[in-house]
Amino acid sequence: MGARSDCIFCRIISGEIPAMKVLEDESALAFLDIGPLAEGHVLLIPKAHYETADEMPPDAAAAMLRHLPGLIKAVRAATGCEGVNVLQNNGRVAHQVVPHVHFHIIPRKSGDAFHFNWPAGTYPQGRMEQLGRAIREQLT
Ligand code: AMP
Ligand code: ZN
Repeated sequence: MGARSDCIFCRIISGEIPAMKVLEDESALAFLDIGPLAEGHVLLIPKAHYETADEMPPDAAAAMLRHLPGLIKAVRAATGCEGVNVLQNNGRVAHQVVPHVHFHIIPRKSGDAFHFNWPAGTYPQGRMEQLGRAIREQLT
């Protein structure tokens, strides 16, 4: 997808807006998040403009995500963090603010300030099988 002049991440890709870049190739860019949840918080983005991950052709997603293991390794080594959260928000309801696909790589240390509300539930009898079937059917 072509660059969008109203998209802040497209403008970082074109060099119009500065960013602390850590990795770049023909299809992906990674740079430091300007509002880090922890020092070393990195964003990995495709160079082509897609708003949400489900809009991406599989090959474009693969070309970007091949960098994920190396980036996590580099962030761990550079920050000395104990773990990493990879977070990818799709849609406003899911806390997506910038409408250009991005993967957050967030360094974690025990006792840090980043907390999840993780309200794990349970399924009533039969509902899990029903949903599993429905999703499988959508994929075929
Ligand atoms: P999300 O809520 O998943 O859309 O996250 C958007 C992220 O982009 C936030 O963590 C922002 O701090 C980050 N961000 C916004 N503008 C910039 C920028 N110019 N340079 C680097 N990171 C940015
Ligand atoms: Zn964009």
